[in-house]
Amino acid sequence: MNLSDVEKLKVKACALIDKNAETLVNVSHEIHDHPEQNYEEVFASELLTRTANDQGVHVELGAFDCATGFSGDVGSGPTVCIMSEYDALPDIGHGCGHNIIAAAGLGAAIALASIAEASGGRVRYMGTPAEEGGGGKILMARNGALAGVDLAMMVHPADADLVTIDAIALQQLLVEYTGQESHAAAAPHLGRNALDAAVLGYMAVATLRQHIMPTERIHGIFLKSGEKPNIVPREASSEWYVRSDNVTSLAALKPRVLASLESGAHACGCSVSHEWIGTAYADMVTNNTMGTMYAHNALTLGRTVTDPRHGGHRVVGSTDMGNVSHLVPSIHPMIASAPAGTSIHTKQFAQFARSPMADQAVLDGAKAMAMTAIDFWTSSERQQAVAAEFQAASTDKNVL
Ligand SMILES: [Zn+2]
Ligand SMILES: [Zn+2]
Repeated sequence: MNLSDVEKLKVKACALIDKNAETLVNVSHEIHDHPEQNYEEVFASELLTRTANDQGVHVELGAFDCATGFSGDVGSGPTVCIMSEYDALPDIGHGCGHNIIAAAGLGAAIALASIAEASGGRVRYMGTPAEEGGGGKILMARNGALAGVDLAMMVHPADADLVTIDAIALQQLLVEYTGQESHAAAAPHLGRNALDAAVLGYMAVATLRQHIMPTERIHGIFLKSGEKPNIVPREASSEWYVRSDNVTSLAALKPRVLASLESGAHACGCSVSHEWIGTAYADMVTNNTMGTMYAHNALTLGRTVTDPRHGGHRVVGSTDMGNVSHLVPSIHPMIASAPAGTSIHTKQFAQFARSPMADQAVLDGAKAMAMTAIDFWTSSERQQAVAAEFQAASTDKNVL
């Protein structure tokens, strides 16, 4: 396809997104107003599937054995999967701005569905719930959601335009201590204090932090710490996030964290058990061929997208998109939706996630993704470059 025809498709896609601007912004606001957590996203998934179907993107709710997930294909040929997240956080609602991801993905899907045939490509529009710890993409991928996908993409809000998130590998850990209850004043010598064990385990992790890589992160909270001060606590528990650069280095860090947490139990004469929760979130492998195209397209919308791997501002986190990126070529750009310095996972970010700046990010994110998909669909050379880069990248297929 010659360049001017590609440009015409991009103009058409962007015009369709502008035509649907009111609908898309309303979807973003509605989801923001109804925050739902992991796998409870009934309102958001129904709103997105209804709106998508109304606009000619045929998707089905409950796809790949995931009740609040959805998926549908339009067109045929090289397949671009556009992903929408829509889950929220406890207490701070849409402090991660997934309402923006949802509406931007919807906008891109509507535009791409209408030009898929003319472009010689297929769009798979997928709703992926429970990114905040529930691993919705992992569950859906395990059930075949990525079969036939040649490129996967989404945009995530942030305080800057970046070509990728610094997504490091993550696994959650639950640790439970069991001691012996006793009267804390009458017979303390008969007690074995599970809270002491948990506190010493916590402190052992604090000393471990001096001897791990500066990019690694270990953070936890206490879930159970006893019932009453005059009863020696029989049960205590803590929950942890353990993060490292990639799945391999995470595997090396995990036993060190566990040994630290278990040491408290040994000191206090308590027993300890643990559970590594779910599948680890993998690091993000960005497909630079398409990351560069995304940055180029975003620039045409007036957004200068920088690469955090070259220094400067970065957003560190973890995402189940990392697992997707080990299985198919993927990008996960960050789109500015809040003033510089506003951290995600704060109440302040939640406020900006429903603001004129966020609404602009919905439309620009949709357009930048749609244009990037068109770049992919219309160039077999680019498709080959994407596939070759993915083959050469160090990916781990054992991430589901
Ligand atoms: Zn988040
Ligand atoms: Zn997020």
